[in-house]
Amino acid sequence: ADGRSQGGESVLGVAVTHTTTPRPRPTGTKLGFGRYLTDHVLVAEHDAATGWQPARIVPTGSTRAEIASGALQYGLSIFEGLKAFKTDRELRLFRPDAHAKRFAVSAKRLCMPEVPVETFINAVRALVRVDADWCPAQTGGGALYIRPTLYADESFLGVRPAQQHVFSVLLSPVDSYWDGEEHSLKLWAEREFTRAALGGVGSVKTGGNYASSLLAAKRAKERGFDQVLWLDAVKRDFLEEAGTMNVFVRIGDTVITPPLEGTILAGITRDSCLTLLREWGVPVEERPVSLTELGEAAKAGKAIEMWGTGTAAVISPIGEVAWENGSIKSTGFEVAPRLRKAIDGIHSGRDADTHGWIVSV
Ligand code: PMP
Repeated sequence: ADGRSQGGESVLGVAVTHTTTPRPRPTGTKLGFGRYLTDHVLVAEHDAATGWQPARIVPTGSTRAEIASGALQYGLSIFEGLKAFKTDRELRLFRPDAHAKRFAVSAKRLCMPEVPVETFINAVRALVRVDADWCPAQTGGGALYIRPTLYADESFLGVRPAQQHVFSVLLSPVDSYWDGEEHSLKLWAEREFTRAALGGVGSVKTGGNYASSLLAAKRAKERGFDQVLWLDAVKRDFLEEAGTMNVFVRIGDTVITPPLEGTILAGITRDSCLTLLREWGVPVEERPVSLTELGEAAKAGKAIEMWGTGTAAVISPIGEVAWENGSIKSTGFEVAPRLRKAIDGIHSGRDADTHGWIVSV
């Protein structure tokens, strides 16, 4: 009657309460990104006095959050985003260990309890097994997007680390990240708003970073751009991130991406790209790179290629970056499509996983 069945089933050691009211399946051809949730969620509670309770899988919509919580009042929440891919033999995760480690780094910065790496991976695998039939085929970017979250759920209005938290995992069947056809992006180089400053939480995957990005993104869209190119908070010249992606540029033969110094997210796609590029013998530099440098390189007639990297959009070519009184265009795409093909090949199993990046569900 309450949408639950009694069964006593357990998957990878996690107790499962199956839904008795399955959610409507997506209809039509396009899933988009994040629009649909699967039938089940995983939750595990943590109390500072007693530690972690066993995780359980329950029907989506059967859990509730506390209004007076640090999560809702002060943004005490962190998350991850990774994907499961379907092959003809299995469902497979891409680098769940790296996502688990980054989740732990985020937790520490916001005074939240760490979810052990093994617990994180087991939780993700268990939930994906339960809702495996929601995973779309890989054609057109199809995958199950996995959203682990950790949030303060104690009813307490004082500003201090919370004593009660919830670790949850949601699943969403997705296909391509961008509306409409895939195209090369036009980015607005944002010189009024900034995303992060040294010493802040720019390198943490926490809700506030995304809330504070919305107005700039909205204005960029109103100007006819796809997204914002974030610049550094001091000079407003050095590249930081491309919306919710890490940014790469190629000047001549050299690929450059901003260094991990605390203001940008340590992207797992970024790391995978750096690994592949180094294996291929492409010159790569992790160092600050500015609009000024790109402008001078363009003026000198050097080849320019720009792209963004991230779990949701994988590799997105950037055709143009513009601001009030200037712009820079990519002169051609060579490295980005090669990276895209290599990463798609590993996801799909077409190419060997020589790095140990794939974990079977
Ligand atoms: N930067 C930001 C701000 C992001 O939200 C993301 C998406 N997680 C990325 C970069 C890319 O990170 P990843 O490759 O790990 O998805």
